Amino acid sequence: MLEVLPVTIIDDAPVIGIDAGGTEIKAGLLSGAKILEKRRYFTERENGPEHAVAQVLLAAKEMCDDYPQAKAIGLVVPGIVDAVSGIAEFSENIGWKNVKFKEILESAIELPVGFGHDVRAGGRAEAIYGSGIGYKNSFYFSIGTGISGAIVIDGVFNENPYSGEIGHLDVNSGISCPCGSSGCLETIATAPSIVRNYNKNSSNKLSNARQVLDLAKTGDPIALQAWSSAVDAIAISLTAYVTILAPEVIIFGGGVSQAGDFLLNPIREHFDKKLTMHKAPTLVMAKFSDEAGMIGAGLLGSDALKISKS
Ligand SMILES: [Zn+2]
Repeated sequence: MLEVLPVTIIDDAPVIGIDAGGTEIKAGLLSGAKILEKRRYFTERENGPEHAVAQVLLAAKEMCDDYPQAKAIGLVVPGIVDAVSGIAEFSENIGWKNVKFKEILESAIELPVGFGHDVRAGGRAEAIYGSGIGYKNSFYFSIGTGISGAIVIDGVFNENPYSGEIGHLDVNSGISCPCGSSGCLETIATAPSIVRNYNKNSSNKLSNARQVLDLAKTGDPIALQAWSSAVDAIAISLTAYVTILAPEVIIFGGGVSQAGDFLLNPIREHFDKKLTMHKAPTLVMAKFSDEAGMIGAGLLGSDALKISKS
């Protein structure tokens, strides 16, 4: 049975929130959405998945040792995550499989432990404290190294481990996806895909999506093509989402969303053309940028604290 997490506010006792990503581990001492202290560790995934797990554990232990005022800890990770059983089933990005994170943390740390998915946790943080406030139906859409989303319907947050995986919607890119399929949104619209698309057509090799965006803004045709391909595919995917679930707002998070209106305006134009029956949703930037996942991890810690007291 799936756990239904409330979108409503929880508790502001100090907790530790840890967001373990493919490159870095963001760790904070939090009170609600307030970040009291924060640190960054490196995941060092190039040293293998077991090492990455050890890095997460190191971050958790150091935070607990250094901030004894914390009443609970929450951890979020990417990939396929079963929050109820506390297992990170799979991350193609980091390479780990079936890691029992909740059990590992509970045996290493004497605090209540919460565990969940990075993007869903970030979406919940935005729903409670950020850009989703006041909306009963929202979609938190995160575009970075991967693409995923978090769904709120009628004020209830969806925790289904396979929900929100819009990055694997087929947009006919014709490119093979590491998920085993082809044509997925992630093959053309993530930060690495945008860079790959640019570098494929240019003798000038770039290393990050920000550089492609900056060149696109100057009118460079190759950069514009790479950027537009990504934005068009995102617009098509979000149109599918809106057609089925009709959110009032879409909240944009993740590194690529930093493009702001250069990303949002073409999507608004696409919606104007394609959403003939539906009311187009409001498009906004995430309030907490790349710290939403860490704040969401803190919320899961608060949940665990509440359960431990009941
Ligand atoms: Zn895929």
